[in-house]
Amino acid sequence: MAQSFFGGIHPNDKKAATNKKPIEKLPPPPQVVIPMSLHIGVPCRPCVSVGDHVNLGQMIGEATAFVSAPIHASVSGTVTAIEPRPHFNGTDMLSVVIENDYQDTLDPSVKPAEHPEDMGAEALTEIVKNAGIVGLGGATFPTHVKIASGIGKVDTVIVNGSECEPYNTSDHRILLEYPDEVIGGAKLLARLFQVDKVHIAVEANKLNAAQLLRQRIGEEKAPVVVDVLHTRYPQGAEKQLCQSITGRQVPPGGLPAAIGCAVFSTDTTAAIWRAVYQGMPVIRRIVTVSGSGVVEPKNLECRIGTPLSCLFDACGGLSETTYKILMGGPMMGNAQHNADVPVGKCTNAILAFAREEERLSPHPTCIRCGRCAEVCPMRLQPVFLYQYAQRDMLPELEAGHVMDCIECGACAYICPGRLHLVHAFRTAKQKINTARAAEKAKAERKEG
Ligand code: SF4
Ligand code: SF4
Repeated sequence: MAQSFFGGIHPNDKKAATNKKPIEKLPPPPQVVIPMSLHIGVPCRPCVSVGDHVNLGQMIGEATAFVSAPIHASVSGTVTAIEPRPHFNGTDMLSVVIENDYQDTLDPSVKPAEHPEDMGAEALTEIVKNAGIVGLGGATFPTHVKIASGIGKVDTVIVNGSECEPYNTSDHRILLEYPDEVIGGAKLLARLFQVDKVHIAVEANKLNAAQLLRQRIGEEKAPVVVDVLHTRYPQGAEKQLCQSITGRQVPPGGLPAAIGCAVFSTDTTAAIWRAVYQGMPVIRRIVTVSGSGVVEPKNLECRIGTPLSCLFDACGGLSETTYKILMGGPMMGNAQHNADVPVGKCTNAILAFAREEERLSPHPTCIRCGRCAEVCPMRLQPVFLYQYAQRDMLPELEAGHVMDCIECGACAYICPGRLHLVHAFRTAKQKINTARAAEKAKAERKEG
């Protein structure tokens, strides 16, 4: 067993509902709605027009900045609209709407790389960039940027298969059903970063996946090792994962690259293999659909742009008492108010909860028990940060390192007073960022 990190919690992982269910392919819907922002960074510019016929895998949104990632058609058919549509981030986002012709006509650009074994880092990174690969674990940071900025600095490459969020089992199923894609992607990462071996990290609640991976790695003699980690939330958070694997700690305000680490999600790693060996860009996601509000929880493979309602329909619908829909896990997921928002590159899970699970209190009250500080994996003092946030004390919040809060929700989970801690910290971070931007603009105006 690997090393560990400070704090953390042991919630009921609730994975039994789907962790033995093979991935089912959801038939593509009659229409997909593909937002021009499916990543962190600058949104894409549509490069098709209404009335155009598009092929499966054809680029429909071009990246206009380095920190961006192109977007591709997830079905073949006709572009019927390019207009703002509801996005899973709560806004209306410019989206390309494609009427599916059910032909799945492959675009000529979708072809395997010639002689991938002879390709250098630059050519491989270009393939990753053109395939629109981003952090598919949910972060959606463009992968080509992470690779380009890490080459020469990174000595430890980690594939994150820990999947520590309760309910989520999509990564677990990918490891069991597509181990060769993950190992193949890991081998490419080893070449890109010139490291002797790549670590695939899995939590101890996925021992069948660890065993299968080790068997395949042994057969292939691949430069990959499997690290089995304690089952503890948030084991899969980048900084905690780096510490578990290497014993090194990311400094405050830093990124894993600061300690020589680069972390890639399971599906991102498999997507790198698919881009290189099949030429396939990111056009689909494997999504866990679960929670007490879902009649028959499943793992579904679905096209990007499929409305969430289609996934629920494929799972027998929602229970009448469903009161909350989340995209992502129960700890870090985002509430959705519209079941017609589309599946994006970040969508690893969709959860629906029935009313009896409501844990909100009408009168949240701090009883000063200190449990939030005991579980915070970033060693913050949530109880004090919350008091500062209530009073808009931005300098005190900054001094208390609120910007290092990874919004994991461990403090809110453990809090007997039911305080809305994460919401308070998220809002405080936004206010600090706004204040910093205003200060920068003021300084620039003075200089100008
Ligand atoms: S866990 Fe909740 S009640 Fe306890 S000190 Fe922290 S904020 Fe207060
Ligand atoms: S949400 Fe932030 S403050 Fe709370 S436990 Fe996680 S890192 Fe710590």
